[in-house]
Amino acid sequence: MPSITSLISQRIKPSCAVWEITLKCNSNCIHCGSKAGKIRQDELNTVEALNLVREIRDCGFKGVALMGGEPLIRDDWYEIAQEIKKNGLELSIVTNGLTLNDNIQKLKTLKVDCVSLSLDGGSAKIHDYLRGSPGAFEKTLNAINRLKEEKLPVSVITAVSKANLKELDKIKKILLDQNIAWQIQIAIPIGRFPRELTISREEFYTVGLFIAINAKKYSYKRLPVIGAHCFGHFSRFVPNLGLDPWIGCQAGISVLGIQSNGNIKGCLTLPDKFIEGNIRTQSLKTILENIRLKQIQIKGYCADCDLAKSCRGGCLGTAYAIRKFDEPYCLRAIENKIFPSKQFPMKGKLDSTISSIRNMFHNLILK
Ligand code: SF4
Ligand code: SF4
Repeated sequence: MPSITSLISQRIKPSCAVWEITLKCNSNCIHCGSKAGKIRQDELNTVEALNLVREIRDCGFKGVALMGGEPLIRDDWYEIAQEIKKNGLELSIVTNGLTLNDNIQKLKTLKVDCVSLSLDGGSAKIHDYLRGSPGAFEKTLNAINRLKEEKLPVSVITAVSKANLKELDKIKKILLDQNIAWQIQIAIPIGRFPRELTISREEFYTVGLFIAINAKKYSYKRLPVIGAHCFGHFSRFVPNLGLDPWIGCQAGISVLGIQSNGNIKGCLTLPDKFIEGNIRTQSLKTILENIRLKQIQIKGYCADCDLAKSCRGGCLGTAYAIRKFDEPYCLRAIENKIFPSKQFPMKGKLDSTISSIRNMFHNLILK
């Protein structure tokens, strides 16, 4: 009898299941895409959650990233995390770090594979404002230090908006030479994030250059900075900003999103119209076999792009939240607009691109 993994292998290549184990949160972040705060009334109970871990394993996933809300304030988070490790899956936890001191021994015992903390400002003023939580900046820095003392792998995620665009350089100074991976992504207008704080496409390009410049200036050991899935794609000048070459959005292919009530989406950044099913009424295997994401029609600018086939319109979550596919937050599309083709700096010439961009967007320079 063929294994479950081989049955679904034609459609998906399971790698990472991103699981919002609760919507309850002890922060009140302005940019929260899930409008987290209060618990969902119908969240999976412990037995359902443990069963789901085994389904995730049986479907061939390699790892699970627990997030929320705030995952570490769900009463049975440790039991779920233990089950994940017991089943041979990699475990990452995305946390605001506010309760880290109470949980550090458990994280050590689990041998957690990565703890990712949000750092959205290089100062208490901006970080605490964005997290809606006075004192959060101090607690986050303490949590980072505590994790490092315990030699647990730690990474930092920064969601960039107009409110913290100019904080990137300060955050860089905090992280430099700390051996902490830094992932930069854009805050997109979903959940309670106000659309007016979304960075413009020009600012997006400038942040892309910030990542590229610093990745070039510092060795990966000194500043392991990368752009998240939303930073791309196929620039003519800026080197690849992600860990891997861009092969198109992986929602429903190698990435899966699980909501705390068992709803399954290709990726948690996608709106609810992309709910593929619920594990209370169908097995995960059945949901994966029937995933509808592949039927998405790319329209607008992306449909006419020469790279549409391999790129498939960039990050679908960003595309749906911001402008569908009409004016994609895409390095290549922005270059096409700002440099008429005959004025393209020479391929691979990052420095000349930077000076051209600086001339055009001098008011956006990040320092
Ligand atoms: S224009 Fe659209 S399809 Fe083309 S590279 Fe950019 S995001 Fe991808
Ligand atoms: S929607 Fe965006 S964040 Fe989600 S898997 Fe696709 S590229 Fe990644």
